Amino acid sequence: MAWLLIGLSVSLCWLASLCKVYYSSHSSSRTAFFSNDASCLYFSLAMFLFFFVFLCFLFWSIFLVVPFLTLCMSLSAESKQKRNILLVIAHPDDESMFFSPTISYLTSKGHNLYVLCISTGNADGMGNTRKEELYQACAILKVPLHQIKVLDNPKLQDGFGKVWDHDLLAKIVEEEVASGTIDSILTFDSYGISGHCNHKDVHHGVRRFLNMSRRKVEAWELLSTNILRKYSGPVDIWFSIVYSMCWPSGQVHCLLNDDPSKSFQAMAQHMSQWVWFRKLFVSFSSYTYVNTLKRIA
Ligand SMILES: [Zn+2]
Repeated sequence: MAWLLIGLSVSLCWLASLCKVYYSSHSSSRTAFFSNDASCLYFSLAMFLFFFVFLCFLFWSIFLVVPFLTLCMSLSAESKQKRNILLVIAHPDDESMFFSPTISYLTSKGHNLYVLCISTGNADGMGNTRKEELYQACAILKVPLHQIKVLDNPKLQDGFGKVWDHDLLAKIVEEEVASGTIDSILTFDSYGISGHCNHKDVHHGVRRFLNMSRRKVEAWELLSTNILRKYSGPVDIWFSIVYSMCWPSGQVHCLLNDDPSKSFQAMAQHMSQWVWFRKLFVSFSSYTYVNTLKRIA
C-alpha cells in the first residue's frame, strides 16, 4: 500500500513538473513576469500540485514508510550477538540531536551502549546543569545511567576555537575501551554534522586511537549530509537508503528511527538548550529520523 501511494505521489510530481515545463515553454508572454494571464494561473496550479504531492510524500514517510522499513530492517538484522558499544560525543545533547536513531536501534536490540561525553558543555557556564540533562535524556533513550560518563578535563573544554589534543582523546578512548571491554565505537565523522570543531576533534581522537591501539575494535562514523538533506526531515530516508545501497555489504548501515517522538522528548530534557531554533532543528532535521553509519575500522 505504501509503495502504491509513493508511486502515485511520484507520478503526480512528474505531471506537475511537465505542466510547468509545457506552459513555460508555450507561453507567449515570457517577459510578462508579473502579469495575471492564464499561464500564471496554470503555473500556480502546477506549484500547488507540487507542494500537495510533497506534503503527501512527507506524511507517508512519517506514518507509513518509516515503521514499514524499520520492521524490514529489524527482521534482516544480524544482531544476534550482543555487543558493548561506546558512543563518543563532544557535548551533552549531541546524543539526542544527532544519534538518537542509532541509540534507539541499538538499545531495542539489547546491545550494551556506553556513552562517553568528552565535555560538560560549559561554554556558557552551565556545565553542571547540562551534565544532569544528559542523564535525563539518556533515561528517555533507555541508556543505563551507570553506563554514561561525562568528563570535565581542563584541556577539553566546550567552545568554538578550543582545540582538543587528539593524543589525549586517543588515550581517554583507550582507557574506556579497556575498562568496558568495548568491541565497537561510534562517533562523528570528520565534518561532525554541524561542523563544530569539538565534534571534529572527537572524530580525529578516535581515529588516532584506532591507528595507535593494538586492540581489535570495530568503529563507525555518523555521516554528515549536505544542508538540503540535513533539513529534509523524514524525506532523507530515501537518499540514505539509496546511498547505503551503493556501498559493499556491511560497510554502510542506514538506521531508521522507529519512534521519532522519543528523540524530541530526549532533546526536551536539555532544558537549558531547548530554545525555539533547536525545537525547529529537531523537527526538521533528518538526524531525528535516520542515521547513516559508515565503517572506519
Ligand atoms: Zn555538540
